[in-house]
Amino acid sequence: MQQYVLQTQNLYKKYRDTVAVNNVSMNIRQGDIYGFIGENGAGKTTFMRIIAGLAEPTEGTIKLFGNEDFQSDRQKIGCTIENPTLYKNMTARENIEVFRRAFGVRDTRSTDNVLHLMDLDDTGQKRVGNFSLGMKQRLAIAIALLGKPKFLILDEPINGLDPVGIQELRNLFVRLNQEQNITLLISSHILGELSKIATRYGIIHNGSLVAELSSDELQMRCERHVDIRVDCADRAAEIVKNQLGITKCKVVSPHMISVGEYVDKSEIVNETLIKNGIVLFEATIHQESLEDYFNTIIMGGKGK
Ligand code: ATP
Repeated sequence: MQQYVLQTQNLYKKYRDTVAVNNVSMNIRQGDIYGFIGENGAGKTTFMRIIAGLAEPTEGTIKLFGNEDFQSDRQKIGCTIENPTLYKNMTARENIEVFRRAFGVRDTRSTDNVLHLMDLDDTGQKRVGNFSLGMKQRLAIAIALLGKPKFLILDEPINGLDPVGIQELRNLFVRLNQEQNITLLISSHILGELSKIATRYGIIHNGSLVAELSSDELQMRCERHVDIRVDCADRAAEIVKNQLGITKCKVVSPHMISVGEYVDKSEIVNETLIKNGIVLFEATIHQESLEDYFNTIIMGGKGK
């Protein structure tokens, strides 16, 4: 059975006149690397703060690890939403030791463990004041890992990093996910930053989750494909799958299918549809970049 780490139902948060989170229903499965994408001010931080217990929702429900009564399950969450204040005159190890004691983590091996997990074991005597932004980010995540979380919430961890720093962090996220079985919720304002590693995406705009899709679905949207406008998309998709053996076919709306095969031979798809009684209005070839797709989604406020 599919296990969910997080399920929210119509989560809503209002600050005086501002609706920061507007009826967000999000589902994160165990093992996901969930890319939470939205422009500045879209509501990502507020949503994450609510999940981590740093803010109260105005309305809506939350299930953590399948439980609505989740106070004890919050201990399974690690987060870097409000980054810890790092001590600049101390080394990475000394900083982690301070937080290990403050968090009441007794096992002294935890320090070596999280240093290793974040590839910081060779920073030796270097003081944090001399760290690159990427190293500081890794140290903040190492601190969040001290409690051995099963679910890690990271707010814009990639923001401001150079390409090398981004690559290093991406590799570490995949390692945490695959080797430590940690589910990750990572926010970013740039879809492309997470596109190589996320298994699922949620796109938030003006507080609303306007699209939730898998990496396969995203890849299909951004591959060359033909959008075909028809009288009945469900029936057209059946015909395309059964008669032509096409697997990359998605019903986009009641009157639109998107076909990712036969792109250069789309007349074969069209003929097959017409022969089978489908009324075909239009067929157009598309190839969207990730950013185009993101812009289309947030401008249309459509997708879900
Ligand atoms: P950013 O990446 O810029 O932090 P975000 O997607 O994380 O953006 P939020 O920080 O959640 O967005 O903000 C969503 C909206 O809620 C914004 O309009 C913001 O001004 C408002 N907001 C957030 N926190 C508060 C608060 N404590 N009091 C009043 N308004 C707030």
